Amino acid sequence: MLILSSLHVGWGNALKAAVFHGPNKPLTVEDVADPDPEPGDIVVRVQACGACHSDLHAMMDHFVPLDEGHIPGHEVSGRVERLGPHCKNPYDLREGDPVIVSWIASCGACAECRRGEENLCRYLEMPGLTPGRPGGLAELVAVPEHVVIPFPETIPLEDASVLSCAYGTAFNALRNRGHLRGGESMAVFGCGGLGLATIQLGTIFGASLIVGVDILEEKLPWAQEVGANFVVDASREDPIGRILEATHQRGVDLAMEAQPEPDLVSSLEVVRRGGRVVIMGLHPMGSKIPMDIMGFSLYNLSLTACLGYSPRRDLPQLVNLVAANRLDPGSIVSRYYTLEAVNEAYADLERGRVARAVVKIR
Ligand SMILES: [Zn+2]
Ligand SMILES: [Zn+2]
Repeated sequence: MLILSSLHVGWGNALKAAVFHGPNKPLTVEDVADPDPEPGDIVVRVQACGACHSDLHAMMDHFVPLDEGHIPGHEVSGRVERLGPHCKNPYDLREGDPVIVSWIASCGACAECRRGEENLCRYLEMPGLTPGRPGGLAELVAVPEHVVIPFPETIPLEDASVLSCAYGTAFNALRNRGHLRGGESMAVFGCGGLGLATIQLGTIFGASLIVGVDILEEKLPWAQEVGANFVVDASREDPIGRILEATHQRGVDLAMEAQPEPDLVSSLEVVRRGGRVVIMGLHPMGSKIPMDIMGFSLYNLSLTACLGYSPRRDLPQLVNLVAANRLDPGSIVSRYYTLEAVNEAYADLERGRVARAVVKIR
């Protein structure tokens, strides 16, 4: 007698995917079933999927515990494989069209979505990061059609995968949460993929001074390559002193927290009177931040958070920047991996050896 799990198939249409079996266990590349799209889903043939710190958090059960058999991966680029049932096809996509896929899989219809705050959707799903929605470390992935965004045919798709996480979050954080204005100064804490994308977009949005801060010395040259005016090795130097010195003791207008586990100790100290601090990304449940409330009040500081972005509002603008040759997403990609080497990609990411690791699925 042959017993098949719901995910796995014994014959026909076998497709490869990286499969999760529990925290601290390696992903295994297995044959999985052809995805069964829900009404309104598009099936995308994945070309590349970025590896992100949020995946590491998710696979350590720092968010909602994942089921065994879950497929991780949430930074996807690829081509339209087929439209699922009842698609309205808002972007008029055809089979084979190049696309990027948002991990903010909003419903598109609730009050928050209608207000343009799709990242706050009441029915938000995060393919790859939360249970029930398989992610993009697979040959095929099914996702809601309105978060599948067209991408130019003329630009390589491999690097485009990182647009839908690191760049999308950095874009929303600078534009809509941090309200960066041309000529302002900023400091970026954490120079991994998210921090580097923030620095790069900061230059495009006209920041006058950008300081990159990290505790890993090897990341600092990357920050300079994408536009940081100067960098601080926080394992050896005091970032508060260096940044205040560079701004004549005034402080920067904006501090961006791009560390996987931000503590805010430095970022709240380096902003000017009336300055703004933005915490970006996803962090382990239960993380706490120490704050000097008196200093916060005395100097009228602003502290805000940025979870992702609104795919329909923000991703087409990012794609336009790439199409206009103003933004090269490949500049934060350190290394490409095969699907079989997916565990190596996450190990390198965890050890800080890469800014962004991208897994090429085909
Ligand atoms: Zn991510
Ligand atoms: Zn919604």
